[in-house]
Order: sequence, then C-alpha cells, then structure tokens
Amino acid sequence: MQIAFAKFMRGIGGTDELLSDGTPQVALIGRSNVGKSSIINSLTGEKALARTSDTPGLTQEINIYSINKKFYLLDLPGYGFAKIPAEIRQKIQKLNWWYLFDSDHKQYKAVLVLDANVGPTKNDVEMLALLRERQKDIVIVANKIDKIKPTDYDMRLQVIIDLAHGLPVIPYSSLKKIGIQDLSDRLF
Ligand code: GDP
Repeated sequence: MQIAFAKFMRGIGGTDELLSDGTPQVALIGRSNVGKSSIINSLTGEKALARTSDTPGLTQEINIYSINKKFYLLDLPGYGFAKIPAEIRQKIQKLNWWYLFDSDHKQYKAVLVLDANVGPTKNDVEMLALLRERQKDIVIVANKIDKIKPTDYDMRLQVIIDLAHGLPVIPYSSLKKIGIQDLSDRLF
C-alpha cells in the first residue's frame, strides 16, 4: 500500500466518536522513546506529522491519524519509562489497556514496536503476551536497526524473531529509511 494521504485528526484521552465511526483502526504500541513518532513520519513521508522527542513520556494521549482515508493509525502513548512519575505511568497504562483490552472498537491490527538494539523489555514481553491472549492481529517492528553493530545484527534480530514465535517481524529504521514499504504493506 502506498500512503498518499495522512492527516492528524486529534489526540484523545478516552472514548471519542472517531472510534465508533466505522473506520478500521491500527494501533501503534511501544515503550516510550521507541521511535513511534518517527515511524509515523517516515511511513507518511512527512517530516513533522507526529512530534518526535528525546524526552520520554511527553505524550499521554492516543493520537489519531487518518491514512489514505481508509483507516486510522492510533499512536498509543509510550509505556514503561522508569523516570516518568508513577501517576502518569498508571494513567498511560490505564488508557492503553482500556483501548486495547476493555473496549470493543473496530480494532483491526496491533503493531508492536520494539527497540531492536536494546532488545525486548519486560513491559514489551508483557504487552505481547496480552495482545496474543486477546488474539490481536499482531505485527512486530524491530526498530532502530541502524543502531545495531553489524557483528551483533543477526543475534539481535534473532531474539525478536524467537519472541515473535511466527508473527511477522519487520526490521525498521526511520533514520535509514529501511522497512517502510514492508510495514506499509502490512498495515492495511
Ligand atoms: P516515540 O517516543 O516512540 O514517539 O519516539 P520518537 O519517534 O520521538 O523517537 C525517540 C528518539 O529515538 C528520538 O531521539 C529519535 O530521533 C530516535 N529515533 C527514532 N527512530 C530512530 C531510528 O530508526 N534510528 C535511530 N538511530 N534513532 C531513532
């Protein structure tokens, strides 16, 4: 799929009419700072559609983007950053879990973004287990592959492939523009 149209709709902190207008929804999930905003910008070819940041935990809302007027891409707030105050972490987890597990939206696909250089964290493993348990249609993005030392590449990727247990894994780099077509094709 080529992305020809992308528009930021709005950020939501709970239920919203966009979620029940019948448009299929693709959720982008991952820990804080994993590079989700950069993925949205590289996928859509727009430099600043999503706000990237070096400061984890800034986004506490679900940001909704309309893609090709066919589906919504929902950027869920990043989880698991230790330096974020506990109340904010809990608020983010509550919002994510409500959206993913406690509501009956037309949730079509779950894209879990992992940092391929850091490797899966405890929170990532837990999130993946929950997504599997709820039988989501899961795609895993092994992000920031440009950061991996060439000699470590195969080993780092294999860790994610093992964890994925048959789910599709897409090696990705927003910086080096790797994996864009592959991920676009998997989204819709
Ligand atoms: P978010 O919190 O998940 O939305 O993450 P951002 O997209 O804001 O990115 C967090 C940090 O990681 C920023 O400093 C980005 O420049 C950096 N980053 C994102 N994607 C990549 C990538 O593919 N390669 C490298 N080397 N850095 C990246």
